Amino acid sequence: MTEGFWPEGETVGVAVTEALGRNLGPLLDYRAPAGGCRLGDFVEVPLGPRRMLGVVWGAGTGGFDRAKLRAIHRVLDVAPMRDEMRAFLTRAADYTLTPLPAMLRLATRAPGLDAPPATRRIYRLGGAEPDRMTDARTRVLEVLRDYGGLAFTLSELTAQAGVTASVVKGLVKQGAVLEEDAPRDLPYPALDADAAQVRLQGDQVAAGAALAASVAEAAGQGGFSATLLKGVTGSGKTEVYLEAVAEALRKGRQALVLLPEIALTGEFLTRVEARFGRRPAEWHSGVTMTERRRLWRMAAEGGVQFVAGARSALFLPFRDLGLIVVDEEHDSSYKQEEGVIYNARDMAVLRGALCGAAVVLASATPSLESWANAQAGKYRRLDLGARYGVAELPAMKAIDMRGQKLPADRWISAPLEAAVAARIAAGEQALLFLNRRGFAPVTICRACGHQIGCDDCDARMVEHRFLKRLMCHQCGATKPVPTACPACGVEGRLAPVGPGVERLAEEVTATFPDARVEILSSDLFGSARALKERIEAIAQGGADIIIGTQIVAKGHNFPALTLVGVIDADLGLQGSDLRAAERTFQLMRQVAGRAGRAERRGEALLQTHQPEHPVIRAILGGDEEAFLAAEAAERQQAGSPPYGRMAGIILSSPDVAAAFDLGGEMARRDGPLRAIGAELYGPAPAPIARVRGRHRVRLLVKAPKGAPLQAALADWIAQFRLPANLRLAVDIDPQSF
Ligand code: ADP
Ligand code: ZN
Repeated sequence: MTEGFWPEGETVGVAVTEALGRNLGPLLDYRAPAGGCRLGDFVEVPLGPRRMLGVVWGAGTGGFDRAKLRAIHRVLDVAPMRDEMRAFLTRAADYTLTPLPAMLRLATRAPGLDAPPATRRIYRLGGAEPDRMTDARTRVLEVLRDYGGLAFTLSELTAQAGVTASVVKGLVKQGAVLEEDAPRDLPYPALDADAAQVRLQGDQVAAGAALAASVAEAAGQGGFSATLLKGVTGSGKTEVYLEAVAEALRKGRQALVLLPEIALTGEFLTRVEARFGRRPAEWHSGVTMTERRRLWRMAAEGGVQFVAGARSALFLPFRDLGLIVVDEEHDSSYKQEEGVIYNARDMAVLRGALCGAAVVLASATPSLESWANAQAGKYRRLDLGARYGVAELPAMKAIDMRGQKLPADRWISAPLEAAVAARIAAGEQALLFLNRRGFAPVTICRACGHQIGCDDCDARMVEHRFLKRLMCHQCGATKPVPTACPACGVEGRLAPVGPGVERLAEEVTATFPDARVEILSSDLFGSARALKERIEAIAQGGADIIIGTQIVAKGHNFPALTLVGVIDADLGLQGSDLRAAERTFQLMRQVAGRAGRAERRGEALLQTHQPEHPVIRAILGGDEEAFLAAEAAERQQAGSPPYGRMAGIILSSPDVAAAFDLGGEMARRDGPLRAIGAELYGPAPAPIARVRGRHRVRLLVKAPKGAPLQAALADWIAQFRLPANLRLAVDIDPQSF
């Protein structure tokens, strides 16, 4: 028998994409089908009355009566899962304490993996000369000639040549272009590593060369490496890591760039097109099912060179991944908090290590974790000192709100108002940043003091005037704004308290009646596409004053924007979260970085009630290294991540007593945790204490750095029986602690 092949009737172990009972192992035994099966084959297996997708994972356990075993229904016609991918999923499942089936589901998130392609027609150069040449026809033929022999879909060809479909059809009639049935999925058109020359400058030169070298090294004997690329916004990080992408293209290896808001940022795709002649393939929630299937298969077959995607792109079955870039690596959206709880930044490093890729983590404000790894010499580090060209970092100043006498429903101080007026008078743009969606965060009854909350969550309802409803930002539930207080019944005394972006917009419109005001908030747009179009229009100058939540902080480039006003710089510092300082620092620096990206020097004004607060001072001082070092020292002292290990156990149930009971029992029987020197905190209400009617109780485990945390957690958890309706989720490296 050849290794990794099982002839018909042999017993094989299959990992299925379905959570199984706890008493079943991660693999199920099946008989190999007619024709046999190979290690890594994607298969359809019977499970009870259903058919499930699975992957041949190894030899069977043999613990079952062979005669009674069911047979694999069929082997799918797709490339088998590679060993390194199986290793990745196994390690990721072990690290996050996730059952393998759930992990496997992340890797098969394209429906009907081997469904036949939607019938597509493809177009390539024919031999005949058209009877009559027009400009449009010339462009079509030039595109086809430029990409020698390559086939295009109709939409690709019309887009590339800038013509209508009828031009192409006309050429087909004349035999100048051939129209054929697509064989199966089309490979993505090739990118050209050297399509455009970019002249790197200053620090960029060495950084670009070092990243390209790490990709070349990974392709050769050197294998995996991880590099932290740190540089202020606008210093050219993107430009520099595209050098690494170019090197991957030259080496014939695949490149993956993860971006926090890929669905929103057309800018990145356009830049790639300018650099390599083609856009990268996209992978995110806005991509159609057919396209996902094509990309999934092409990743496995090597028919795609460059993918730009959201965090889940990390689970695509790349045939030969040579580079992974995690852009804005500090961004909290890389942490998936529901279902499989994982941090894509960490998983990128794991995947890179297993497939021998160069991993690049890019940020202006790195996470403490990555910074510490670079300090410890585990990651290489490259720094870009200054902004590219003439652009300078904005001047940052605090506005002490304690001296500002503002009426109760106004939030813009006199100095900020004057600064905005000056900028718009000069034809520039101003951004007012407030990280609060909706009209007002709280609706309070002036008669009895009651605050309107969500029925199902431990959260206040936020008034959204635009929607004319109250909304829960935890679960999305909405209800009409009542006229009478639900608690005391008094009519007409309910009042909004505090500002959201919609309310701020009212103030801005009243103060600057002639200015064009735009609110950028994710809930005001029906789709990511609509939001993206708005952002692009604003970048073209379609607004004077932009009012935005944190979606504006992420990598958008508004060339005319020269002033950023932060309405409440203290907002993120409230609460007990130990990461609050790090996160506020990152957010404020990112937002301020939106100002003055082109020729004009920008300015950032931070309204604060505590200008002496160390974090506010660090933000104003702008010395990231000093800030990170101070944070690191504090965490080291406390044994907190990244100098210690942490895990959250979330117990959720409609019955709060049941969750606390189990939490209490778990806290009493913590032997396996004590055995590794871990400490246990809780049970306590989780940071989000109730969501969708389920109460959430959290236990926090803190372990010394080298301790075998996952194994101890598994032993500990295995001692308990979960009551019906109670769910237990493990959150390794929680975001808040
Ligand atoms: P970052 O990713 O660090 O925010 P970018 O790579 O987006 O910075 O660069 C900021 C701006 O400067 C972009 O418009 C980019 O095209 C431009 N830029 C940076 N470096 C160069 C270069 N060497 N040549 C031409 N343009 C550059
Ligand atoms: Zn709710």
